[in-house]
Amino acid sequence: MIGKSVFGIFVSFLFFTGSGLVVGEGKLPNDVRWVRQSAEYRILCEQLFHQATVAILRTVKAEKNSGNLAVVVDLDETVLDNSHYQVERWKAGLSFTQDSWSDWVNREEAGLIPGAKAFLSTVRKKGVRVVFLSNRMNDNLKPTRENLQALGALDPRDLFLLRLDKDDLKEVRRKEVTDGTGRMKKVGPLKVIGYVGDQMGDFPSDRKQEFGKTNFLLPNPMYGKW
Ligand SMILES: [Mg+2]
Repeated sequence: MIGKSVFGIFVSFLFFTGSGLVVGEGKLPNDVRWVRQSAEYRILCEQLFHQATVAILRTVKAEKNSGNLAVVVDLDETVLDNSHYQVERWKAGLSFTQDSWSDWVNREEAGLIPGAKAFLSTVRKKGVRVVFLSNRMNDNLKPTRENLQALGALDPRDLFLLRLDKDDLKEVRRKEVTDGTGRMKKVGPLKVIGYVGDQMGDFPSDRKQEFGKTNFLLPNPMYGKW
């Protein structure tokens, strides 16, 4: 949680004190601290990516025509770890703004979500195309690519479908991937055998029964539409 009120901090202090934990000034809020410091978060992410890898490889094996297989992967809090941005905002007593977010993206300092890099390289080796479908603005494609490149998480064959404007919903872009239309016209239709994300909006709304099969959801307690 960012932009926490003074009252909120006071309540947190009472909570921590009540549970016997020592609270120092500047102690991170629980959500950000869990992501940045807990073994549980790291292992959950690695576990999820392992599960996704096993499922995808199984599907690849079963597919007769494996030339057009793809995974649709979100970026923030799925491949890229932006918890440092959350820390900075919290320390400054500020919340999310589009401008500060854009500044952060352009600094190219995001880290890697545990397990993401191995997942991406394993599925690529099987010829599965990686489509990064993210609500990062398309204007920030260059720093996004450079950040991924520096982390060793980018392949020249990867595709990017970032957001052009507010009407460019993820659902619109997912349809371009499966239909081979719009920005995906040159690539042609792809058969999506896996979706990975940290928000419900990262998954097709008509495939909510597919979690653990083709939909793989990572934990993100720091922000979301909840
Ligand atoms: Mg995300």
